[in-house]
Amino acid sequence: MKKQSDKNMQIGMEWSNVTLSCAYDCLFTILRNVYNHNNQQWNERVNEANRFMNMLTTGWQSEDQVHEVTQDKIQKLLHILDPEAFTMGDGTDLFALCRIILLYNTYVLKHNYVCYECNDLFKSEDQIFAWWYLNSTKPSQISKLLKTEWEDKIHHRYRCTSCNGQIIMTTHVNDQHPPNLSFSIGNINVKITASLSLKINQTSVKYRLCGVIYHGGFHFTAQLLDKAMNTYYYDGMTTGINCDYEGKFNSIENMYEAKGRSVSTLIYTTL
Ligand SMILES: [Zn+2]
Repeated sequence: MKKQSDKNMQIGMEWSNVTLSCAYDCLFTILRNVYNHNNQQWNERVNEANRFMNMLTTGWQSEDQVHEVTQDKIQKLLHILDPEAFTMGDGTDLFALCRIILLYNTYVLKHNYVCYECNDLFKSEDQIFAWWYLNSTKPSQISKLLKTEWEDKIHHRYRCTSCNGQIIMTTHVNDQHPPNLSFSIGNINVKITASLSLKINQTSVKYRLCGVIYHGGFHFTAQLLDKAMNTYYYDGMTTGINCDYEGKFNSIENMYEAKGRSVSTLIYTTL
């Protein structure tokens, strides 16, 4: 039988105490693990999604690339775009990071605000990132929470400008579903499942869990999962490039916590 240590992976980002890079470390290491196992699909479906994905992929593709260099470049660019969410050394807004890294070159969702009486289109909004914040009052699957979120809803703030009728918000999910999704969860009623099946315009799309990001004590850590549901613990501050094999997903008793930190964000992929 193989020793546990033989199963460890050396793909983690090393944490920087200057830039406090842990949010980046976690998200990028999870994505790199997906890339490593699915080169071709990644290049076809993810690489061109946005400039940051492209920078990451280019870095992973070149043998002699120091991955922390790419990460520093991305952090500096984001800091220029939004200095409050992306600080240099004063912590990172992980939710904002997920939104911008999981940005797509087409819309993910389209909300149409339509008059119930005369059918006039009041306004239209596109969501171009694949990130959601989910909360639940009772134990629920993510697929069910999204289904509820995507149902038609009465919009109370506006009335139709032509006929004063009620406005309904409809949600249309793009047929070209994003290959990677992320969910930040507000409480443990949101179930962490190995797979996630989403109904997108009559077609069922299956995603698998590929990473969980934990937060606590001003630091982020992560669990990485591959297709066989092998689970690895990663903390750029203590384990550096090492991702420690923890066992199969099903054998892990509590995915909501890891070494004293609580779950913050889940990453799912079709790859
Ligand atoms: Zn109307």
